[in-house]
Amino acid sequence: MVDRVQVLPYFFGNITREEAEEYLRQGGAGDGLYLLRQSRSFLGGFALSVAYGRQFYHYTIEREMNDTYAIAGGKSHRNPIDVIDYHSQESDGLVCLLKKPFNRPRGTEPKVGPFEDLKEQLIRQYVKQTWNLQGSALEQAIISQRPQLEKLIATTAHEKMPWFHGKIDREDSELRLRRSSHVNGKFLIRQRENNGRNVSYALCLLHNNQVMHYRIDKDKAGKLSIPDGKKFDTLWQLVEHYSYKPDGLLRVLTETCPRPSQDSVLGATGGILSRIKSYSFPKPGQKKGHTENPYNFRLNLRGELPKPNFFSTEAMPMDTQVYESPYADPEELRSTTVKRSDLTLEDGELGSGNFGTVLRGVYQMKKTQKVVAVKILKNDDNNEAVKDEMLREANVMQQLDNPYIVRMIGICEAENLMLVMELAELGPLHKFLQKSKHITMKNITELVHQVCMGMKYLEEHNFVHRDLAARNVLLVTQHYAKISDFGLSKALTEDENYYKAKGHGKWPLKWYAPECMNYLKFSSKSDVWSFGVLMWEAFSYGQKPYKGMKGNEVIQMIENGERMSAPPDCPAEMYDLMRKCWTYKPDERPGFSVVEPRLRHYYYDISQ
Ligand code: AMP
Repeated sequence: MVDRVQVLPYFFGNITREEAEEYLRQGGAGDGLYLLRQSRSFLGGFALSVAYGRQFYHYTIEREMNDTYAIAGGKSHRNPIDVIDYHSQESDGLVCLLKKPFNRPRGTEPKVGPFEDLKEQLIRQYVKQTWNLQGSALEQAIISQRPQLEKLIATTAHEKMPWFHGKIDREDSELRLRRSSHVNGKFLIRQRENNGRNVSYALCLLHNNQVMHYRIDKDKAGKLSIPDGKKFDTLWQLVEHYSYKPDGLLRVLTETCPRPSQDSVLGATGGILSRIKSYSFPKPGQKKGHTENPYNFRLNLRGELPKPNFFSTEAMPMDTQVYESPYADPEELRSTTVKRSDLTLEDGELGSGNFGTVLRGVYQMKKTQKVVAVKILKNDDNNEAVKDEMLREANVMQQLDNPYIVRMIGICEAENLMLVMELAELGPLHKFLQKSKHITMKNITELVHQVCMGMKYLEEHNFVHRDLAARNVLLVTQHYAKISDFGLSKALTEDENYYKAKGHGKWPLKWYAPECMNYLKFSSKSDVWSFGVLMWEAFSYGQKPYKGMKGNEVIQMIENGERMSAPPDCPAEMYDLMRKCWTYKPDERPGFSVVEPRLRHYYYDISQ
């Protein structure tokens, strides 16, 4: 939604209400002239500014709990654009009908607020420090978890702000404000001692050597406000607001009174961005393998699970041991040969496939232990061809290194040939969804998007998977998917963008694009077709595609121009994307470089 709003010609971004009024004046301020801007108080909210009778009226369009939008107390709509359409027909409480949008002057982009930039930097710093990530692992973490990270930052960022002094008493806050400079408008925020459960804060403001204490309460909906004042989602929005407008306070906030441990960093007025250098997030927990850690999560130095909400289903991929590359530490994983004596196999199968069984195991590395999955070749008659096949799979996997792909740890040649891989404990996606009907569409979109990120990586590195299906997507957690099974995969050479099979084989026809069947041609575009089928499987909670149909009937159906219908309750945007993936001609079909951002933006929209 945010993206659709961003491109509206009458969306001005993060401008103040005064700036909005100035624009409307420039437009003649006729009755019903309006513009849309970003809310400076509510996360994900908007504000509508309307001219009427030479006056200006401002309405907040809030994002509601169930992802709808409404002007406070008014009718709910699917998005802010629908709110505007509605009020073009019905005033319904507004001062007048919305008549004419005022568009941004040529060359003016929607304004990006200081906190938008700040947020970007905070997210980056947070991910870097909390999970010790850099380079592409850091980028991929931000892309796949942006909505969660934004929320985390939004609600906890004040703790990192130099003006936030935590739980100190009134006297202490006055002492701190009177220390060194006595600039009017110097301020800090402290957390108040509470007798009840509700958290409340106080904004302490220095003016003419007097300290004013304004209580900041949190209402039932979690909104923060000074009594009778404007409401905000976060403390940093509150500070931003009162830094530009007194709005009932004695004066505007000017200079931050820094927390004592951060003396050197601050002093600057208003320039919130300049303060970012002072932030220090908790030191990252060092990875430590542990066989008693069934979820494969990272442990901190003391061997504890580092996050308070660790076992909550909201744990992020980066919290697990299999997010960062096992190759990241060259000291640990130098060769792809695993010594049998370093590998302990556990009882109980994780699953079984063409080659044999897959067992859980523990791999003893130099510094740490790692829980792993071990594919064991059952080769009773010592068939060289089967062995070669497994080695070919290992060879492909060895060349891939992405958080959304099951990575190979190594090959172990002992009583059997064994392929040691990262463990994805929750198993295949389709089976997981079949027994988890409570999983939300948002959660499914998150997982499918991760698969798409992994496929985009394969496309960029000229690999074709050739067996992409929900059964070959394994889950590490409910919020973390990895692509597996590279048994049919091929590396393409520089000068060819497809692989030509020598003949038909035992193929998963229901996942194959027409050109695979008709011309034996496999490319990233044919993987995109399969990805569309995978999306269909995911959004139908693990149902079989083309249920009850035979392979040749499916081929006929596709040739006739028919496609599977949308799974029940599947979001229209997602079904539309599946249909794009099922474009008949590969040249007209989008690649993963197009599909991934579409999925990403849809995911961000529904996650805000
Ligand atoms: P495959 O032979 O690759 O089709 O694997 C057969 C089954 O073993 C899969 O369907 C999974 O249930 C399980 N499996 C394979 N690889 C892994 C892994 N890396 N982590 C956890 N389970 C796995």
